[in-house]
Amino acid sequence: MVNDELQTYSLTEVFGANVFNDAAMRERLPKPAYKALKKTIDEGTPLDRDIAEIVANAMKDWAIDKGATHYTHWFQPMTGITAEKHDSFISPTSDGKVIMEFSGKELIKGESDASSFPSGGLRATFEARGYTAWDCTSPAFVKDNTLYIPTVFCSYNGEVLDKKTPLLRSMEALSKQALRILRLLGNTTVKKVITTVGAEQEYFLIDKKLHDQRKDLIYTGRTLFGAMPPKGQEMDDHYYGAFKERISAFMKELDRELWKLGVSAKTKHNEVAPAQHELAPIFNTANIATDHNQLIMDTLKKVAQRHGLVCLLHEKPFAGLNGSGKHNNWSLSTDDGQNLLDPGRTPHENAQFLIFLCAVIKAVDEYADLLRCAAANAGNDHRLGAHEAPPAIISIFLGEQLTDILEQIENNGGAKSLKQAAPLKIGVTTLPVLPKDATDRNRTSPFAFTGNKFEFRMVPSSASIAGPIFVLNTIVAEELCQIADRLEKAEDLNAEIHAVLREIVKNHKRIIFNGNNYSEEWIEEAKRRGLPNIRSTVEAIKALIDEKNIRVFEKHKVLNRTELYSRYEILLESYIKTINIEALTMIEMTKRDIIPAVIGYITKLADSINTVKATGVNADTSVQAELLQEVSSLLAELKKNLAALEKSTSEAADFSGDTYKKACMYRDDVFVRMNELRAVADKLETLVDSKMWPFPTYGDLLFNV
Ligand code: ADP
Ligand code: MG
Repeated sequence: MVNDELQTYSLTEVFGANVFNDAAMRERLPKPAYKALKKTIDEGTPLDRDIAEIVANAMKDWAIDKGATHYTHWFQPMTGITAEKHDSFISPTSDGKVIMEFSGKELIKGESDASSFPSGGLRATFEARGYTAWDCTSPAFVKDNTLYIPTVFCSYNGEVLDKKTPLLRSMEALSKQALRILRLLGNTTVKKVITTVGAEQEYFLIDKKLHDQRKDLIYTGRTLFGAMPPKGQEMDDHYYGAFKERISAFMKELDRELWKLGVSAKTKHNEVAPAQHELAPIFNTANIATDHNQLIMDTLKKVAQRHGLVCLLHEKPFAGLNGSGKHNNWSLSTDDGQNLLDPGRTPHENAQFLIFLCAVIKAVDEYADLLRCAAANAGNDHRLGAHEAPPAIISIFLGEQLTDILEQIENNGGAKSLKQAAPLKIGVTTLPVLPKDATDRNRTSPFAFTGNKFEFRMVPSSASIAGPIFVLNTIVAEELCQIADRLEKAEDLNAEIHAVLREIVKNHKRIIFNGNNYSEEWIEEAKRRGLPNIRSTVEAIKALIDEKNIRVFEKHKVLNRTELYSRYEILLESYIKTINIEALTMIEMTKRDIIPAVIGYITKLADSINTVKATGVNADTSVQAELLQEVSSLLAELKKNLAALEKSTSEAADFSGDTYKKACMYRDDVFVRMNELRAVADKLETLVDSKMWPFPTYGDLLFNV
């Protein structure tokens, strides 16, 4: 089946048709090669050179059958999106023709010029070489006549330059520590613990013709101007509403494209804001989920174009309406399929569950700053803490029942009991029966336990999910490590488990909050509890170079000090560039579009007054005169605010000192001036002749799809 034929096939035939998955490997590889590759994928054993040749050849033949002419090492640099350079399979022969070739070496390792990817000072330009190395744990696939090989990306000296490497390392670290716990509890068969992730993707769809009339959308992905239309999202008529035909056609094609790539697109629905939607795949191994989320973002954009639409992945495309996030559902599973965050049915399973639960609680409390940082970008600053998305304060929702159980643990089973008649004792054999229906009814929490997984809701819609996951994995690995250190030394395992859990609950229960996270009271309460409230991205980024955080990353070999410092620089620079582009776009739109339009309207008003007066009829021109006054004085104010923004933008751009200071200038000065300029322009939008306004309004954009 080549690509075009697939349109007519059924879902089960289409699913994964363009993926070199297990079925394809089994079919295409000789048995010994298949077995060796499988071992590499499952256990991380190095792949023999000869086997690599066989795999490369089989992969190439398979890809050519799917219409591929090229291959690419697909990687995830620090830009947060993916990168690819395509090479064709051709190899010239002596008779002037070509054959299609692809070697094991080309499969395993690629060399690319890394000088134009963000490195945060890690790599001097004279060492421009970067390497990509095959990540065989995520399957290769064919897209647009190209064989995509998922890879990791590092510098000539081996320093990490991408998002994938730390993710893979964190998965390994977490597996290692989780296995120690499982062994202590008597499990000798599990070989590996896997991080599972399901990322729900929110996005907006708008008409391309309208989109293309707005420079802000073109350059920044969000509207930098725009007054609220008479109708916003207050009617709640979009959420879960029926799909319009055009949207439905888009979604059908989107699903099909994703299924071909083996992405298990499952749930789709309209979201709260007009023109906002959501797509959720079925969860997968964190590594594959990360690749798939990149494919989802990419496919959303491409398919939208085919339908005359543009997909906006920005966290806040429209002020005054809900923004977009990416809920990261996260859990741990054994290689034999047991979800370690599933409350068990037996006391033994319960002990295990409670240890993992408490490890997460302690991790989130101790490293809240890192998690906050993992969810930070310039776009998310508009969401977090803005009464529609999770607040900037990290806390955990557990639900009443689980919280109650933890309280019992803390009180040593003496004071309270829930459903249990007997006093609670902790131990592998004497644990309470845990509630099975600990469902999540709280939608305001940034980090919610949802029955058998945690849902990290702060993640920005446009970002790679690798960052949030590798942070979470690393900090949980650390807590499991600490717990295992203690339990391994314990004489009485049950007593020690009891003591450890009690201690964790006692010391970290401040992070648990089951109430309304959007309320003002919570902000006060969180302050009393000593929980950090990190309001902006710039502030959040500092967590990366905090000594405690460097220690945890180094200890678990996820990132070293140099790599963390480089990431710190990259993230600050990315913030600076984002705000700078936004400011320059506003300046251009104001000067070249808004001011001329407003002057046009002022002239029209003045002309009207003169024309009426010239008739000699003593008609009332007070309306024109009043409007002329009002619009003219707003124009003067606009010009004043424009000058202020121009000044602060060039000051910030020219500042060549410390990057952190520079980022602060953008946040505290440029960004503030941007908002002041916008406020006046938005007022003008409501006064100026709609036919003269230079670009489509919110009403046009949101209700014309
Ligand atoms: P909701 O909108 O209520 O949050 P959805 O059904 O839209 O729920 O999304 C839930 C996501 O969580 C899905 O992607 C689902 O596959 C994922 N998920 C379910 N179980 C796990 C698990 N054990 N580990 C990781 N993700 C999971
Ligand atoms: Mg959700």
